[in-house]
Amino acid sequence: MLGPVILAASRSDRMRRLISAAPVTKPVVDRFIPGESVDQVVPIIQDLTAKGLEVTMDVVGEDITTPEQATLARDAYLELIDRLKQLELGERAEMSVKLSLFGQALPGGHELALANVRPVVEAAAAIGTTVTLDAEDHTTLDSMFAIHEELRKDFPETGCVIQAYLFRTEADARRLADSGSRVRLVKGAYKEPAEVAYQQKAETDKAYVRILRILMEGEGYPMIGSHDPRLISIAQELARRAGRKPDEYEFQMLYGIRSDEHLRLAAEGHRMRVYTAYGTDWYGYFMRRLAEKPANLLFFGRSILTK
Ligand code: FAD
Repeated sequence: MLGPVILAASRSDRMRRLISAAPVTKPVVDRFIPGESVDQVVPIIQDLTAKGLEVTMDVVGEDITTPEQATLARDAYLELIDRLKQLELGERAEMSVKLSLFGQALPGGHELALANVRPVVEAAAAIGTTVTLDAEDHTTLDSMFAIHEELRKDFPETGCVIQAYLFRTEADARRLADSGSRVRLVKGAYKEPAEVAYQQKAETDKAYVRILRILMEGEGYPMIGSHDPRLISIAQELARRAGRKPDEYEFQMLYGIRSDEHLRLAAEGHRMRVYTAYGTDWYGYFMRRLAEKPANLLFFGRSILTK
């Protein structure tokens, strides 16, 4: 029951101010968001890739209120890509982007987000890598998919995310499972109403398997975004049945969550990409991580008590 309460708090400005300002929050945040600047995160990228892992980099932030903030976000990604160029990692380091950070919710936001994300996709392609568009709440998805389709005309490898908890997603998966598409399947991290999304975890898990089968049997490149051990073994089995080789799909997990499993899957010969978020506006991202596993609150609470 705590998950939905934490998700509601993730959209509250008052809670944002309270939690962001508390000095005790920082050590807990660091577990999930290992840096606030490019300088802090570059050594993390080097460390992860030296261990045989790949990364997808996310500059944290969402719900911006001015077009200038969207420009700053675009520039933050361009600065990151410039640093990645020096590391020569190619597609081993890709980008994940939330279109809300690029202005999607502002007036004229669809065009604004497209105008801001395009240079990032171009810069990524110029260093041999790609961008994946994250999925946010359901009201943003038609715009996200339209931007994805537009970007794919010039950059067919641009990826997108679909969420198993939404009723619409099986149809989206069928539409997206074409040749050259890159699709990350996740369970879904937002608070969604019963009109559009499964409310029970078991239903979402069943949908995840149905949708993953569509992606594995399709012609695209499935990216399995989950830490769930059961779904990971089902994914391996579905890949085997679909005759996919290890470089024809990949696993993705979040930085700071089940890190041993990242290394285990990579050691078994799987492609394993670690979603690594960094930046100063970490509140929304952090709160979704707490909501996914309310036991994280104990960790948070303990660090407050021991101060
Ligand atoms: P769960 O059943 O939630 O978790 C399985 C196990 O993983 C848990 O038992 C626990 O051991 C561990 N675990 C999971 N979450 C946590 C946590 N926060 N802290 C500690 N342990 C944890 N969602 C979106 O809506 N849009 C996106 O664009 C998006 N991108 C993502 C990208 C990646 C690479 C990943 C891995 C997830 C992404 N998510 C996104 C989040 C996703 O929707 C889920 O909320 C999240 O992955 C938890 O679901 P799970 O599949 O790991 O399964």
